[in-house]
Amino acid sequence: MIRKFQIALLAPLAVLPLASHYRLSPPSIESNGQLRAARAVLSPAAVPGNFTNAEFARHLEQLKKKLPSSGFTIVIQSPFVVIGDESPESVKSHSEKTVKWAVDKLKQDYFTKDPKEILDIWLFRDADSYERNTLTLFGEKPGTPYGYYSSTHKALIMNISTGGGTLVHEIVHPFIEANFPACPPWFDEGLGSLYEQSGEVDSHIHGYPNWRLPGLQAAIRAGKVPSFQSLTALDPHGFYDEDKGTNYSQARYLCYYLQQHGLLIKFYREFHTHQKEDPTGYKSLQKILGTVDMRAFKQRWEKYVLGLSQ
Ligand SMILES: [Zn+2]
Repeated sequence: MIRKFQIALLAPLAVLPLASHYRLSPPSIESNGQLRAARAVLSPAAVPGNFTNAEFARHLEQLKKKLPSSGFTIVIQSPFVVIGDESPESVKSHSEKTVKWAVDKLKQDYFTKDPKEILDIWLFRDADSYERNTLTLFGEKPGTPYGYYSSTHKALIMNISTGGGTLVHEIVHPFIEANFPACPPWFDEGLGSLYEQSGEVDSHIHGYPNWRLPGLQAAIRAGKVPSFQSLTALDPHGFYDEDKGTNYSQARYLCYYLQQHGLLIKFYREFHTHQKEDPTGYKSLQKILGTVDMRAFKQRWEKYVLGLSQ
């Protein structure tokens, strides 16, 4: 039963083709006898990007069938669609100030390709909505209270009440997937987690020290941080399943060190170019650091990290 289907046009000219498409064929919005309705807020960002209006329209047709309740706002923020159950103003603000900002800044320094498919960014307003709707929509319980990227579901699934940092972290992953599919987990997570606490310096995205620092400093003092050769060689099982607690933070603060020495973007380009000969990035790291003595580098890096504060 369709009781309400409202489109708020924020940029009528820019989105006209899309909007008229909706009017002609409103989505099927009945499921399990429950009213489903959507308030779609279409942003000017609908137009540019690699996906056409028609592709977004088709995507939204399908998306609207899945909306868990009438309280969701949809914002097209190419190459993503942002769906949230906060106020429409808040959803729009996240999509511009966090999603668009991060996408623009990451593309400026790293990425040339958008993800191959339109991805959904679900911004659930609190822990209850996040857990309940993740189960309803995807049949799974989140393994983290903050949010995650699921390439299976083609979605970033976030508890946005925990802040926008994790959202920026997760946005890195589909871009790495599209631009550097062979990227090992240490760099994928190192770069993602670097930007979970970020801002702008000289108009470029810039990561700052964050909550991952004290644990890493404790592990350094305890002599429990593995060599960079070991870190970079970890496959997904080793990185994610056998993490002794420092894989993410070691990778993050290696990226942070490179950033602070003006080497991070250079490293990414070097590694990306030579990924076939150097699938772990270890040789590219040596080259960019200008040393083969990685034991001595680790000592310098540890001293540097111990001198940082949050
Ligand atoms: Zn991650």
